[in-house]
Amino acid sequence: MENIERARKPEVVLLSHTPDPERIVATAMRQSRFKGGVVGVKLTRDDIKRLIELALNLKHFSVFEHVNFTFAIEGISRSCSHQFVRHRFFSFTQQSQRYVKEHGFPFVIPLTIQSEERALSLFLKLMEDIDDAYKELSQLVPVEDARFVLPNATETKIVATANARELMHFLKLRLAPVAQWEIRALAESMFNEVSKVAPNIFKENNIKFFE
Ligand SMILES: Cc1cc2nc3c(=O)[nH]c(=O)nc-3n(C[C@H](O)[C@H](O)[C@H](O)COP(=O)(O)OP(=O)(O)OC[C@H]3O[C@@H](n4cnc5c(N)ncnc54)[C@H](O)[C@@H]3O)c2cc1C
Repeated sequence: MENIERARKPEVVLLSHTPDPERIVATAMRQSRFKGGVVGVKLTRDDIKRLIELALNLKHFSVFEHVNFTFAIEGISRSCSHQFVRHRFFSFTQQSQRYVKEHGFPFVIPLTIQSEERALSLFLKLMEDIDDAYKELSQLVPVEDARFVLPNATETKIVATANARELMHFLKLRLAPVAQWEIRALAESMFNEVSKVAPNIFKENNIKFFE
């Protein structure tokens, strides 16, 4: 299996986010509910927590749109990224298969296949054949056409940005037990990252408030 890299689990890094995201959300909520402006208003950590809870209880979701989170994601399949990019309020930049030539293309192997000997042997044999065909085609036609033989299992890398409202909507759909295992693993990793920087917003118990 020369050059064929074995699958990895999704790797998610929170590249950047709006500074002090909870304060911004709480400030927007305060603007909505109190007389006067918000410039120079000093909110305590308790105020912030209370204002976020109020926004959630009132389903005042627009206040969550003022803060953005950007993720670098690797080790997901093209099958998973296709599901991911259906979320229209995210911004995405995905590694191009037109301009980036695969060298022994990496791929994701579902656990069910990894744990069944015959399934794994079928799967790996097919990946090897595809790899051979892709390499040969790449010498004969442009890479953008050779890529037509690459499978859904092909690993991809993607940068994704969303505001907290869209992120919570995504998490609600994709952490649910009915979601497919790979995008659920991706959603779990994303949730773990954002809950470190905005724990009062990204709480498991808060997901139910969102639509
Ligand atoms: C378990 C599961 C199975 C699925 N199976 C399939 C399948 O078999 N085939 C398939 O094609 N897709 C399938 N999907 C994808 C699904 O239909 C959605 O495209 C995807 O989940 C994105 O959700 P969304 O549209 O709510 O999200 P987003 O695009 O993130 O939009 C967020 C919200 O904005 C609002 N919104 C956005 N655009 C519009 C609009 N044009 N009009 C009105 N309101 C809008 C909606 O309230 C929407 O919920 C599946 C999803 C899940 C979770």
